[in-house]
Amino acid sequence: MNSSDIEKIKSTALQLLQEKFGFQNFRLNQQDVIFSLLEGQDVLTLMPTGGGKSLCYQIPALIRAGTAIVVSPLIALMQDQVNALHLLNINAAFLNSTQELSVSREVERQLLNGQLDLLYVAPERLVTERFLSLLDQASLALFAIDEAHCVSQWGHDFRPEYQQLKTLAERYPSVPRIALTATADSRTRKEIIQQLDLHQANVFINSFDRPNIYYEMAEHINARHKLWQFIEQRHPENAGIVYCLSRKKVESTAVWLANKGRTALPYHAGLPSEVREQHQQRFLHEEGVIIVATIAFGMGIDKPDVRFVAHLNLPKSIEAYYQETGRAGRDGLPADAWMSYGLQDVIMLRQMMMQSDASEMHKRVVQQKLEAMLGLTEIMSCRRQSLLEYFDEARNEPCGHCDNCITTPESWNATRDAQKALSCVYRTGQRFGVNYVIDVLIGKKNDRICQFGHDQLSTYGIGSEISQTEWRVIIRQLIALGYLTVDADAYGALKLTDNARPLLKGEMELSLRKIARNQKPAIAPKKRVPQEISTEDLPLWEALRKLRISLAKQQGVPPYVIFHDATLKQMVIERPANLNEMAELHGIGDSKLKLYGQSFLQEIQNLDGEISGIS
Ligand code: ADP
Ligand code: ZN
Repeated sequence: MNSSDIEKIKSTALQLLQEKFGFQNFRLNQQDVIFSLLEGQDVLTLMPTGGGKSLCYQIPALIRAGTAIVVSPLIALMQDQVNALHLLNINAAFLNSTQELSVSREVERQLLNGQLDLLYVAPERLVTERFLSLLDQASLALFAIDEAHCVSQWGHDFRPEYQQLKTLAERYPSVPRIALTATADSRTRKEIIQQLDLHQANVFINSFDRPNIYYEMAEHINARHKLWQFIEQRHPENAGIVYCLSRKKVESTAVWLANKGRTALPYHAGLPSEVREQHQQRFLHEEGVIIVATIAFGMGIDKPDVRFVAHLNLPKSIEAYYQETGRAGRDGLPADAWMSYGLQDVIMLRQMMMQSDASEMHKRVVQQKLEAMLGLTEIMSCRRQSLLEYFDEARNEPCGHCDNCITTPESWNATRDAQKALSCVYRTGQRFGVNYVIDVLIGKKNDRICQFGHDQLSTYGIGSEISQTEWRVIIRQLIALGYLTVDADAYGALKLTDNARPLLKGEMELSLRKIARNQKPAIAPKKRVPQEISTEDLPLWEALRKLRISLAKQQGVPPYVIFHDATLKQMVIERPANLNEMAELHGIGDSKLKLYGQSFLQEIQNLDGEISGIS
């Protein structure tokens, strides 16, 4: 290809962005990624969730000859993605095990005839010899490997078939490949490069910052109640995800929220797949649904208007936390990441880890990740700074948009109390769990304590002026800060670490953060109304949303596939008077203009007419 050809192709890319997808400019690294692929290079791209990864391969798929093969780990979502592409008049299809044979044979025929721009396949299908020999006969534009971190054995989404994708490099050396992910610390990044043989790839790393997400984490005595306050005050009508550690808690929390009057649906690996599928579809297709889920839920979910992600338990790692919270606010409008955690989480996670039959090395990595997560909960400085730092991204200023930035956490000098707790752990022989140690500290009389003679210890009752609950908080912080560990092998016995020594000896001071800070409301929308819509405009906003949902029902797609909130918002603010003006708005390309432009114009005119009394 000579340079003028390249220029031509590049201007086609911009034209497609504007006319097909209805967006004015490329975001972040999109343009560079697209150009690399157009020049036939391999690419590894890291973009935060909502950054716009799909366009990175969709546009080259339309420009390059042949079909783009998209490897996507979640079968349930392929249909939605393909439907959304059809609305843009793009020839896309998917192949997966849920299809009837006749349907998949037809898709295969289209592939061989060169009729498809994009074909989505599950990794296990892609690596079968049958499918590969089909690909041998097809003309291929590129391979896109979505959620590429699934290749990592250390990650929480490990999919063994992903490692077989290396085959693609050997078998199709001239077809460019792009690996995409939203989570990858430098270790995972190296693994992706290694496992997928992307040594020659152009690597594009975007900032991981999600400025529209407000981060908040706190320890609560009654977490569920706090969760409800949070939802009721800040998201009375919004869609959101609530993550819990266990299936049981998922079930009970869903019922509890449903009793409060919300549509709340459980999702975990123990439910029959039809139920899971149905709940996922309702979450995507209806408005204001809350999904209560274990970590089994969420990968590949690209619902842009999830307004909050709440954690009722501590996630296992910062990667997991960031990926899960990243599902909020993909449309760029304000969203909340809210978390409640407690001592029990730490103990449970440690136990789950110790009981797994992973190798010692693996356990150590897992342990370090948990510790980093704990550290994040305890810091008194900006959460975002610390999160980004974890992903090797320096940020000089505090963000001003997280709980610690909004309300400086109060701290207190906990040196003496910490010494009491540590020495009580020491004197009872480092053989007992939290509850027992606290009983000794507050001087409880019970058989067990007497039987061990611990009522004779110098530490017996030295902490009686502090409540049991407060001791739990102190001990949790001592664990989080690395002065105590929980020995999961020995039934959760507390043990001193080396760090504890200077503290015990009085060689250092310790301050801890106070619990039960007053919750400051985040700068988040109270209702499902994006900021900037005035009260007078509310009827129009509601009318357009109603129209959107009825069109979505007709087409069998989620409402946001018709238009995003941001697009509706622009309609309300700009009041386009004709199709040309409508075409100028964000997110309206040729195809959607044709499909829906007239109906939305009509609705705007109807309402405006009514209000000014002209109609
Ligand atoms: P990711 O897969 O990175 O999480 P998506 O590809 O789903 O993100 O894109 C997130 C949202 O951003 C989508 O709704 C998409 O239409 C929108 N988007 C992508 N690129 C652009 C752009 N250049 N301008 C405006 N919006 C964009
Ligand atoms: Zn901050």
